[in-house]
Amino acid sequence: MFRGEVFAYPCTSRKKMACKPVKFFAMDVACKYWPYLQRGNERCPELQDLLSMKPFLSVFHAKAHDFKCEVKWSGAYQEGAGLTLGEEVEQCNAFLSRIAVTTKHMSKAGRTDMLTVMAMCWNQQKFNNLASTLACRYQKATIALQRQLHNFEAMKTEMAVTDDQLEGWITDVNEWAEATTSPNDADVAVVARRIEELVTKEVPTSL
Ligand SMILES: [Zn+2]
Repeated sequence: MFRGEVFAYPCTSRKKMACKPVKFFAMDVACKYWPYLQRGNERCPELQDLLSMKPFLSVFHAKAHDFKCEVKWSGAYQEGAGLTLGEEVEQCNAFLSRIAVTTKHMSKAGRTDMLTVMAMCWNQQKFNNLASTLACRYQKATIALQRQLHNFEAMKTEMAVTDDQLEGWITDVNEWAEATTSPNDADVAVVARRIEELVTKEVPTSL
């Protein structure tokens, strides 16, 4: 139930985006949400189109996850993601937190209305600035790519490493991250599966 409540919101909002050519979806817990979605898809095939977007674990949140998790899911290692951090919602949170000084004196209904209006205002502003923001980001990513490629080549020469060796290291790290699961993750997965089974059994009796 807990997982259902947490993951139902992104499922709904992503369903609205599924008809558009969206390549990634960024989330703080994409590593937990994705297996949940795959399991859910077995029972609800209507969720199929949600699997076409690639899961992107927010870059800074990934630092607080297990290292294997970061290797497998972090947006920093996804091809085509550029310098996207996947932390953009934090900017909206920072913007909304500034109005707490006034909303804390409001009624619950007034506060909800105020936060809704401010969130809509944020979205409108984001939409108005979208073209220039994207152009600026693209330029930054292009410059950063050139710089990193230069550093990379210099490091390869300095360490006398060949491309084949590098490929081998990348494969080793990826296989290690795929093959091993920490005991903690395994325990959590067993409990999560059990809760989902119980919830599925509960539904018909509670209707
Ligand atoms: Zn994780």
